[in-house]
Parts: sequence; C-alpha cells; structure tokens
Amino acid sequence: MDRSFFDAGELVGVLTTQPLGRVLDYKAPEGGCFAGAFVEVPLGPRRIVGVVWGPGAGDYDYDKVRSVARVLDVAPMRDEMRSFLARAADYTLTPLDAMLRLATRAPGLGDAPGVRRVYRLGSVVPDRMTDARAAVLAVMHEYGGLAFTLQELAAMAGVGTSVVKGMVKLGAVSEKDAPRDTPYPRLDPDHGGKDLTPDQAAGAAVLSAAVASGAYGTTLLKGVTGSGKTEVYLEAVAACLRKGRQALVLLPEIALTGEFLDRVEARFGQRPAEWHSGVTQTERRRCWRMVGQGDAGLVVGARSALFLPFRDLGLIVVDEEHDTSYKQEDGVLYNARDMAVLRAAGCSAQVVLASATPSLESWANVEAGKYARLTLTSRFGPAVMPRMAAIDMRSEDLPGGRWVSPTLRRAMQDRLDKGEQSLVFLNRRGYAPVTLCRACGHQIGCDDCDARMVEHRFLKRLMCHQCGATKPMPTVCPHCKVEGKLSAVGPGVERMGEEVQALFPDARVAVLSSDLYGSARAMKAHIAEIAAGGTDIIIGTQLVAKGHNFPKLTLVGVIDADLGLQGSDLRAAERTFQLMRQVAGRAGRAEAPGEALLQTFQPDHAVIRSIVAGDEEAFWSAEAAERRAAGVPPYGRMAGIVLSATDVQAVFDLGTAMARADGPLRRIGAQVYGPAPAPIARIRGRHRVRLLVKADKAAPLQAALAEWVAQFRLRGDLRMAIDIDPQSFY
Ligand code: ADP
Ligand code: ZN
Repeated sequence: MDRSFFDAGELVGVLTTQPLGRVLDYKAPEGGCFAGAFVEVPLGPRRIVGVVWGPGAGDYDYDKVRSVARVLDVAPMRDEMRSFLARAADYTLTPLDAMLRLATRAPGLGDAPGVRRVYRLGSVVPDRMTDARAAVLAVMHEYGGLAFTLQELAAMAGVGTSVVKGMVKLGAVSEKDAPRDTPYPRLDPDHGGKDLTPDQAAGAAVLSAAVASGAYGTTLLKGVTGSGKTEVYLEAVAACLRKGRQALVLLPEIALTGEFLDRVEARFGQRPAEWHSGVTQTERRRCWRMVGQGDAGLVVGARSALFLPFRDLGLIVVDEEHDTSYKQEDGVLYNARDMAVLRAAGCSAQVVLASATPSLESWANVEAGKYARLTLTSRFGPAVMPRMAAIDMRSEDLPGGRWVSPTLRRAMQDRLDKGEQSLVFLNRRGYAPVTLCRACGHQIGCDDCDARMVEHRFLKRLMCHQCGATKPMPTVCPHCKVEGKLSAVGPGVERMGEEVQALFPDARVAVLSSDLYGSARAMKAHIAEIAAGGTDIIIGTQLVAKGHNFPKLTLVGVIDADLGLQGSDLRAAERTFQLMRQVAGRAGRAEAPGEALLQTFQPDHAVIRSIVAGDEEAFWSAEAAERRAAGVPPYGRMAGIVLSATDVQAVFDLGTAMARADGPLRRIGAQVYGPAPAPIARIRGRHRVRLLVKADKAAPLQAALAEWVAQFRLRGDLRMAIDIDPQSFY
C-alpha cells in the first residue's frame, strides 16, 4: 500500500470478492487508477467487482494480463480500511476475499449514480378541484417538502397515476429528476441536549475530551440500566460531530427499534443513517455511498456496519457490549466488539463500550490498564435497583408440572392488588422443551439433528431450535405407535402463560416471545401496548431483558435461575449473572421500587449468591480468579475447530489426524483437545466433531493455527470452521 497511483498499463493487484485465495494481476486502465479504487475486472467470461490492492506481482507473461475494465464511480477504499480488512482477516483466519464481501454488502455498487423522477408540490392551485386532486394535494401537504415517486404518490393518495400527470400539466405538481442517493441531513450537535446530572456530566466531559483529542482510546462505560449511559454517549457523538468526524453506534440487532432513532432525533434534530437487516436495498446502497463520501454523520447499525467505508470515523459506540449477538456465528466468525477496537485503533477513533453488565473480557482489559473506565452509579430520577431475593425451591410446596412457587404467587397477587405489573421470566421459547411418550419413554427428536424437538402449541407444531425444522404435533408415538400417551415435559413460556392464567383467572396475561409475531412491527406494537399498562402479567423470554421500558413493572419472577448454569460453556456463570441482573433491572424504573425473586434449587451456588447480594465486584473477581487458574479467556487464548461431514467416519478420521499432527501448535506451547463429538453432534444431517486449542495469552496463535490446518486437504463434503475466541460451544 506504498504506491498510491498507477499509470495506464502498469500492473496492479486486484482483490476480488471471489473465493480465489489470492490477489490477481491486471493492467491499470486508460487514465490510470488509484490504489483502493473500486474496479470491474474481467474474470473468465464474467466481469466482477474488486479493489486495487497494490502493485501487481508480475509473475505472469505481461502480454497475457488483461486490463481493468473500468473504475467505479465510488470513493476509493482508504488505506486505513484496507489495513483493517487485512488485520481482521489475519485475526479471524478468514480469507481476505471473504472480508471484502463483508465490506461491499450494498447492491448496485457498480451502477452509475442514477437519477429518478420525483414529484413535489407545484406553485399553481388548480381551478377545478376534484376529490382525486384534493387527495393528492393532501398527501403532499401532510409530508411537507418530501419528494415522491409517481407510484408512491398515486398509491398514497389512492388515485391513478394519470391524475398526478394531469396535475403536472397544470403546474399543481412539479416533476423533476433527482439523484437517487442523497446525502443524509446534517445532525445538529447543539439541538437538544438534556441537563445532565453531575455524575453524567462528568462522564460526558471525559468522553467528549477523548473524542476531541483525535487519538485512539477505549472506554468502558458502566452503569445500571436507566443510569443514563445513552445520554452520556450521545454527548460523545455530539463532540465527534462538532469535530467534523463521523460516528457509529452499534446496537444488538434486536434493540434496533424506533425508540433509539427517536432519541437521536430528539437530541440532534434529525434521524441518523441506518444499517441493519430491516433496511431496504435502496437505503443500504445510499448508506454505503454516503458514508463513503462523508455525507452521513452518524450511522446506527448492527455489527456489520463496522465494515462500512467511513471517510473519517472518529467514534464507535458498542451499546450492550456484552451482548452475545455481537459475535457473528455464521460465515466470517468475528466479534464486533473486538473488531470495533481494531478498527478504531487504525483510524485514531475512540471506542465506548456501554453496558450494565460488562463482559469479563472488557473488565479484564480495564484491570490491565488497556481500557479506561467510567461508572454511572445511580439510576436517573427516583428509581433504585430492585430488592433481590432467592426462593429456595427445595422448601416450596409445588405439585409436579407446576412452576410458580407459592412465594412467587403471593408476590404476584400483591402487585395485582396494587394495580402494578409483574414479569415472569423463563428463557425458553415454545410450550414444552420435551415431548415424551409415557408408554415407551421415547422423546421426540429432530430427524436431522441430535436435538429434541420443542413443542410450540401456538403454532400447533414441533420445532427444532437448531435447524428450524418443524413437523405437526403427532398423536401417535413415532416409536411404539401407541396413541394418546405423548405428554409435554418441562416448561416453555407458552406453558407458563397457561399456568399463570389459571392461577389468576381475572388478570390480563401476555406472553412475549420473538416467535409469536408475524413481523417486527407487530411485536413492537404489542410491546408498546404492554408498556402502556395494557397487561397485568408479562411472561417473557430474554426478549424482555433488553432495552424496553415497562414503567409500571415492579416485580420480576425468575422461574428457573439455575437454567443457564447447566451448560458446559465456560461463560455459563457470566451469562447467568448478566441475564439475571438485566432482567431484574426491568423492575422499578419509575417511582415504585422493584423486587426480583429468583426461583432456584441451589441458593448457595456462588453465582446465585452474588446475584442476590448485588455484589458485582465480588462476582467478577471470583470469576476472573477461576478463569485465570484454568488459563482460559480472557487470561488465555482459545480456538475452536469444528469439522463436519455427512460421513461420521470421515470427520473423526480427519480430527484424529489433525490432533496427531500438532507440531506447529506444540512449538508455541499450545495444546489440542479432542477430537470429540461437538455438544450437538449432528446438525442438518451433518456429523460434527470438535477440537479445542488452548494457548497462553501471548502466544502467536493465529500463525500456528494457519500452519497447522494448511497440512490438511478437505475432501468430499468435509468442512472446517475455525472460531477464534469461541463464544458458544455447540
Ligand atoms: P441507560 O442507557 O443507562 O439505560 P438511558 O440513557 O436510557 O439509560 O436513561 C434512562 C432514562 O432516563 C431515559 O428515558 C432518559 O431519557 C432518562 N434520562 C437519563 N438521564 C437524564 C437526564 N439527565 N435528564 C433527563 N432525562 C434523563
Ligand atoms: Zn433439527
């Protein structure tokens, strides 16, 4: 990346999005091209998009090398972005072409800027006003200065396009060509700041000064839900905008609701650019281009927004930084929190990691002095953290097939009497996790996975939560063919809904689970209705743990606080601690104080005790000590290798061969464990085998892994996925 311009005919190396495993040589086109230019190059009979990565290697006959077909009309990829992609590829052991695919996920990149015909309010009032014309004018007045396409305007007014065209002739509607991708409106950093509490103001001042310094730095912004973390980091965004640089706020996908966009609008007078799965293709393209030319000051997005071509990125906020959805589990396996730090370090930007319950990784980085830490200690306004207590299920009198203990029931009755809301939390979708035949003991499993099928009574089907396969609920046992003996075992949220409704027949009960809605809009509408008080008792999965405000909620009952502790996952304790605190944090946000009750069979378990005591520092220190002793992340390094194939013997053979050929790993002092069947040994008909590599924190793990796996060829349908710092162990 030392050369910046290549004259026509000079050899350039072009990285394409094709999985070729290398950069290809081409001749620079007429007029030359810059390093980083987005180009179209011929490959066989096709033309594909690529980026000029640097000088060509020159190891082919010059005369046979083809020319770049054309340079695309978009801002060239900056050096900083090219080195970010290269470093991210090295870190995650991902081919560069796959990284480039992440960085070019916008449609029609190669298309000319393009124009479309738009319609606005004209200057003439028609002499003869018909109902149809009045409807068109009404729509245009309602949406102020907005431009419409012909189809949009006609559809919204409920008239034919000929009506609109007639009005164009009269001058009542103006018709004009306008560019397709328009800049986002400028956000005003001085529009609507709130009066901050002294605590918040101090935090905002520190972050703003850091952003103003123009240097790299990472700060952990910690504070209970409702303490004003969002208010504080929006001040850092304001500081970034004042400096003329761009800001990016990452939210967990599920939290990307209108609520946050409304807050941005209230603070800055305009809405930001959006980048997530719910955005239209047209808007994606606009966002990608405007970010590249500096015409989007703030982007609010999901993890892949990190790969947008920012012109001058000065701040990245990772909200709810501990959220597991930041880890991409498909395709390129990366953790957006870590990649945010990598990206910011390369462009002198600040990172703010915000959370009420930070990950142990971030906590350890603060301890090690790599990250700064800011703590907001109290909730904004009168609310306080809820009172927490454990319900010892060993001494509760509860018949089989029932899960609400008498103690929890009394607390719920009390809220009903006072007209307050309760939340019953169970992190299990569906009606029952297991369907058992009482005649033969058979449990109904998925045909393609080693997983039991979960009954979803609402959908009247069984569903595999691994692969999503469904089948109708059988009446006859598929194993012994006996009829009428199948029964639901264990609770899911739908079943809790039934139990709670039976306990409180007059209460308004709502079950909140992501799979019960046809659309994100329907879910949002339902949540808004619940928050407004339209429900007495909410039954919910972890969907309710995030983001939403329920002002009337004063009691949280956790049905099974032990649930998360059962896994073999090294982060099981951490996850349980975070989830329980987040759920408990839903209670008592407004004036009424809250209470959280945790049903548990192990009230003396260290994790349960620290949750109840609310002693975070004690929890983190104890957890850190255990991980340090075990040499696992964040105090050691790990990589998971999952091999899969339809032939079980082939997977095990490869796994065994890999474990034997561990020379490159042994040289850096790393150990290989396995091969062992993965916790879910079969998914979608593919057998899965897992190897785990453990190394010291300082060991050059990626290089050794690359050398190790390069010794093997993947034959047939064998596949290998390498996961650096694995988060899930399935
Ligand atoms: P967090 O991000 O820590 O959960 P928020 O920033 O969302 O906290 O704040 C919680 C609620 O309190 C929000 O409705 C927010 O607008 C309000 N709030 C926080 N700080 C202030 C303040 N200084 N002035 C007015 N409202 C505030
Ligand atoms: Zn399945």
